[in-house]
Amino acid sequence: MQEKIRPEDALLYHAQGRPGKLEVVPTKAYSTQRDLSLAYSPGVAEPCLAIADNPEDVYKYTAKGNLVAVISNGTAVLGLGDIGPAASKPVMEGKGLLFKIYADIDVFDLELNTKNVDEFVRTVKLLEPTFGGINLEDIKAPECFEIEERLKQELNIPVMHDDQHGTAIISAAALLNALELVGKDIAQVRIVVNGAGASAISCTKLYLALGAQPDNVVMCDSKGVIRADRPDLDARKQPFATSRDLHTLAEAFVGADVFVGLSKGNVVSQEMVRSMADNPVVFAMANPTPEISYEEAVAARPDLIMATGRSDYPNQVNNVLGFPYIFRGALDVRATEINEAMKLAAVRALAALAKKSVPDAVNMAYGTDNLQFGREYIIPKPVDPRLLATVAPAVARAAIESGVAQAPITDWAAYESQLAR
Ligand code: NAP
Ligand code: MG
Repeated sequence: MQEKIRPEDALLYHAQGRPGKLEVVPTKAYSTQRDLSLAYSPGVAEPCLAIADNPEDVYKYTAKGNLVAVISNGTAVLGLGDIGPAASKPVMEGKGLLFKIYADIDVFDLELNTKNVDEFVRTVKLLEPTFGGINLEDIKAPECFEIEERLKQELNIPVMHDDQHGTAIISAAALLNALELVGKDIAQVRIVVNGAGASAISCTKLYLALGAQPDNVVMCDSKGVIRADRPDLDARKQPFATSRDLHTLAEAFVGADVFVGLSKGNVVSQEMVRSMADNPVVFAMANPTPEISYEEAVAARPDLIMATGRSDYPNQVNNVLGFPYIFRGALDVRATEINEAMKLAAVRALAALAKKSVPDAVNMAYGTDNLQFGREYIIPKPVDPRLLATVAPAVARAAIESGVAQAPITDWAAYESQLAR
């Protein structure tokens, strides 16, 4: 169980010592005059000239290849909404901390003071020489879609909006495993998605890529079922419109095999869960309050498999299972993008890892000795030390096979053992 965090403790944590959560640390010797002459003038001119001569050498002589920008404009921060760029900085620094501790990736967090899509895109584009990858974060829909699409097109380094794809990847791994446990085929299951925002649309697209059938998916937004005859649908929602005669979320629930909630707290009743098919899968992922509480859902249906976004219940869909390792794999082969094949590889690697026996260290961290693949353990835990050496190579391999790796790995044993260290 997670300890309750008091507001004053969180503030003190951030304020004590040097304020914030990150600092910059030199990686080369700097104690002698000679070191400094190598690090800066006159020695530094040599790598400058080498890079001017051969642009690829920037990866050889600078930190670019291990440096990710975590970029936000603070318009959709956690569940807090549009609190502005400065107020988003603790989240972006926190993301930097997670990148570092889980995958040894260095991060500059950048909070941009603009809500204008063109300005945002242009700014990030100008920053491309500095970074090996771009993690877009906490940017509100619909701007986040256009920003990511344009940057993916215009930049030659990996770009990923984690709120969309991170959630999709982790929840898809959980979904594959949940369906395996209940013996259902993703191509057959009926799926209700509540929410039609950044995360819900990206999740649904990934489930379709994994074999879910469009006719079996019903999506709802704040106005109810997204039906083909609704005049208010934008281009993002339209492809998910159903022609079935359903109007409310409650109607959509009847007989459904899977519920995916990426909307808001407490909008699903026990009645709705009771109306689902046998062995229902309920992913109530609104944060911090799920669409239906774990206790209520389990009480309504003892045969259910449940996941939430919370760490204090089983099966937490936590993006930290994905982004550090996805970027690690992408950076390590100098991928030009994070494409569908790489995302699917991450999904399958995460799903497979949950089926392996759990190391003692993970059991101990959760105060148990018996975590094993089953209804209450369908995705790995964030503290699992095997994640790095499992997910990063899968992503790297997929980058190579899909032709976007500029520096393919040849010695896989060496690469994997280096990650496992
Ligand atoms: P978003 O882009 O703002 O989308 C929210 C969507 O929810 C919108 O489509 C909205 O409908 C819909 N909605 C609001 N109230 C609703 C209701 N009563 N019934 C049905 N739909 C409703 O937000 P997001 O980034 O996708 O995040 C959505 C939720 O998922 C948040 O609670 C977030 O914390 C959570 N989330 C969790 C995880 C995780 O667990 N790892 C990851 C990502 C997001 P309209 O389109 O009609 O406005
Ligand atoms: Mg986020």
